[in-house]
Amino acid sequence: MLRQVAEGVLVHESEFVQSNAVVVHGRAGVLLIDPGVQGHEMACLANDLSDSGQTVVAGFSTHPDWDHLLWHAQLGAAPRYGTARCAATVRDQLSDPGAKARIAAHLLETEIAGQVPLDLLGLIIGLPAETTQLPWDGPGVRIIEHQAHAPGHAALFIEERGVLVAGDMLSDVLIPMLDLNGTADPIEDYLSALRLLEGVAGDVDVVVPGHGSVGGADEVHARIERDRAYVLALRDGRALSDPRVGPSAKPGWEWVSDVHNGQLQRLAQRSERDGAPR
Ligand SMILES: [Zn+2]
Repeated sequence: MLRQVAEGVLVHESEFVQSNAVVVHGRAGVLLIDPGVQGHEMACLANDLSDSGQTVVAGFSTHPDWDHLLWHAQLGAAPRYGTARCAATVRDQLSDPGAKARIAAHLLETEIAGQVPLDLLGLIIGLPAETTQLPWDGPGVRIIEHQAHAPGHAALFIEERGVLVAGDMLSDVLIPMLDLNGTADPIEDYLSALRLLEGVAGDVDVVVPGHGSVGGADEVHARIERDRAYVLALRDGRALSDPRVGPSAKPGWEWVSDVHNGQLQRLAQRSERDGAPR
């Protein structure tokens, strides 16, 4: 079911880790950001759109993680964009013939095994590097690219509507998940991404995270601060007090504590490998 969060901006929430697909009304059709996860949910979204006489004229994936790269045949053949770096990362992932099988195997351990169509996964067109406006016929969509969480991650700011689509940041339930694979300084990458989002926060009325609840204007700064406090605690090895971790986690989100512990462990390994600061 589509829920309006601002004029001409609607959200379709998945049962799977509260994933949010975002629909933005344009002049000739809609822009669809991070379409969703399960096949039946994307088909439901496609039906909702066609029932209201809308077609998808453009797609966008905020970052190169499988749950943001899916598509359903019923959504049509619109161009699907991502940043140049996002598209290059996906191309790289998919050049490994075992990539989709590995995602499918990972899904077998979840409650949505067999429910995720992977055939159209990752067919992303990379926008030229440094593109700051999404090319489409609708309200201006600013691309705020940064390197937190995943290579070529982008938040989208629909300025006229006051909506910030944050990708996998600024969630009320998920902690910042650092990109610990490729980058030299994942902590600083994350902090600088938060600064970029902070730069537009004053004009944001609605923040839509990739996973979690949609937040109002009063939530935007609070979420930025909470994410920053988390990352700084990781950096400085300080004890963490974050409502998303530990007994205060929302029911169903207790596993976030495991993600947190995993991050702590991998950061410790990294600093051991690189020579721990003294
Ligand atoms: Zn995600």
